[in-house]
Amino acid sequence: MRACVLTATGGIDKLQIMEVPDAPAPQAGEVRVSVRAAALNHLDLFVASGLPGTAERFPFIVGADGAGIVETVGPGVTSVQPGDRVMINPGISDYSCEFCRAGEHSLCVNYRLLGEHLPGTMAELVTVPAQNAVRGPNLSPALTWPEAAAFSLVTLTAWRMVVTRAQLRVGETALIWGIGGGVSLTSMRIAKLFGARVIATSSDDAKLAAARQLGADVTLNHRTQKVAQEVRALTNKRGVDVVVENVGAATWEDSLRCLRRGGRLVTCGATSGPQAALDLRRLFWHQWSILGSTMGNAAEYAEIVRRLGQGELRPVLDRVYPMAQARQAFERLANGQQLGKVVVEVRS
Ligand SMILES: [Zn+2]
Repeated sequence: MRACVLTATGGIDKLQIMEVPDAPAPQAGEVRVSVRAAALNHLDLFVASGLPGTAERFPFIVGADGAGIVETVGPGVTSVQPGDRVMINPGISDYSCEFCRAGEHSLCVNYRLLGEHLPGTMAELVTVPAQNAVRGPNLSPALTWPEAAAFSLVTLTAWRMVVTRAQLRVGETALIWGIGGGVSLTSMRIAKLFGARVIATSSDDAKLAAARQLGADVTLNHRTQKVAQEVRALTNKRGVDVVVENVGAATWEDSLRCLRRGGRLVTCGATSGPQAALDLRRLFWHQWSILGSTMGNAAEYAEIVRRLGQGELRPVLDRVYPMAQARQAFERLANGQQLGKVVVEVRS
């Protein structure tokens, strides 16, 4: 089968399109999906540059997000059948440990991600547990393959952050950094669904204009404006109820300066660096909640698919590339040019 693979770690220069052995035939409880489209995430850039713990067997198939048609099902699979159009949930858990039994699949002790620990979706075939291949809803106009591929990772991640972890409520204000990123943009759309006020940042005025079109109440250019100062002015010195973070080192101190007493900071990433300082006296005195979040559980995934079926949270696409131009797709993401999801069509 044709696949986009890393031939070594060391960055996106090591990506190549090549023929590799087909994804294995499905075992009991698994399905093999004929992939139509795969969407990119920042995770793919970290994997390309050599994230610790990443599979070091090359060639390694990249891609966490994907959608396609069920090609074969293994013994015992009843949830889907060959020919079904499915979206792939990239978080693979063992469905048996203490945390899985409690319904918290992204806390699984054996949690693995497609395209990071397991062969990914940017290939003509991928084999996954049946629980991870979910029929897409019928929408009008119909969900396209790139939209279906772009849905899972960012929507699941943003949902758990904003709804489950930060518990954002109607009338509250959220600060969301870097609105061009998929998780940030989706977090904003979820915050608006829940009736919150959103302050969004970017270093790019064109992205800020687009964010206002998509629902941002206030936008700040974090390159030319002092975000903490502006946020305090916008909230009568009170600060915001919730900060949605995935930038890390570069924004951490400003995030804390923007947070109200008793506020919640939720983070799922550290794209600018993982080390940040925290004065514990400020933490307890202001009674902040600092919340980590990653991916989401099966119930959260079912809920976002249900919302999609109601016409909510339909993915915002940036650009779609043919498989032969997969490296250009990665370059667009690496250069931070996108607003919304960058997608590769595996089969057109
Ligand atoms: Zn588990």
